[in-house]
Amino acid sequence: MNNQLNTEQFENMAQELDAIRENAHKDLGQKDANYIRKIIRIQRILEITGRIVMVLGFFNYVYWIVGVVALSVAKILDNMEIGHNVLHGQYDWMNDENINSRTFEWDIACDASSWKRVHNYEHHTYTNIIGKDRDFGYGLLRLSSDIPWRRKNLWQFLTYFNLSILFEWGIAYHEMAAERVFIGRKKSNRKQQISDKQLKKKFFGKATRQIFKDYIFFPLLSGPMFIYVFFGNLLANVIRNLWTSTIIFCGHFTENVKTFSQKECENETRGQWYYRQMLGSSNLTGHKWFHIMTGHLSCQIEHHLFPDIPAHRYVDMVPKVKAVAEKYGIEYNSGSFFHQYATVLRRVYRFSLPDRKAVIVSKA
Ligand SMILES: [Zn+2]
Repeated sequence: MNNQLNTEQFENMAQELDAIRENAHKDLGQKDANYIRKIIRIQRILEITGRIVMVLGFFNYVYWIVGVVALSVAKILDNMEIGHNVLHGQYDWMNDENINSRTFEWDIACDASSWKRVHNYEHHTYTNIIGKDRDFGYGLLRLSSDIPWRRKNLWQFLTYFNLSILFEWGIAYHEMAAERVFIGRKKSNRKQQISDKQLKKKFFGKATRQIFKDYIFFPLLSGPMFIYVFFGNLLANVIRNLWTSTIIFCGHFTENVKTFSQKECENETRGQWYYRQMLGSSNLTGHKWFHIMTGHLSCQIEHHLFPDIPAHRYVDMVPKVKAVAEKYGIEYNSGSFFHQYATVLRRVYRFSLPDRKAVIVSKA
């Protein structure tokens, strides 16, 4: 796939990256367990406080605002630092049934098992391979010249904005391969692991529970504050959606992130797989709490290289991975939030136009 490294160099690079993973893995223990339990405690306190304080908005609207902010942060922590990472199996070794990828369920419209099937397997194995990684553009956006231009791409900036606001529903719809269930479009080469009926049941079951909780149960519980709690919960969900979608786009769709064809990834070696993961992801720099709020997906490169290592370890791995990338002359795509986000917007805009004007070279 790349003529800049030979087979031996790929092999050596794989060994060096394996060693970084192995060192972190050997060191896993009590401090990782304490860390995730602490984050879960903080998340619960924020959620309970947020829901209660929001009702106190009856006395003063400032309480309502504080409540919405606390609930938004709780939802972000639940989805990013806790949900995404626990569902990757990063903490399965703790043997704690509440912090385990087999049993964990999160505060988002997409049910955990459907998400795991698509994200952990499809997206993490086939990262940025056009036609195999359905997460590349989510079937809605054209973000590479490898994807044929269609008229609908002209207004994809608006599609992107709508997707960000409704992100949890977009993910729920996407992860259950909705085009297959509702529209009946099936790929003959794709093995179905679960029946359409089961998929629908999971989708509607989880969606009903989420709608009931945020838009019926808690508003009813607050009595005269029904409408305020209803809109407070709605706003917290939208804030969480905007944040998670922005972070995820910054990790995969910045201007220089590369895409790959199925052909060039045939018979891929471990070194080439690592190489693709590095070029298919991008990082964000920032402070400790910024990383936590992104679920450490600010270190998307490290996450894609080592998806089963607890994400709070990624920050320490960054200089080591960067050194390997430099040694082998591989681009390490990292920058501040505002810089990376500006390049995401540029990419969404550029590929909304037919290729003549799309100047990004997106093939590795
Ligand atoms: Zn992931």
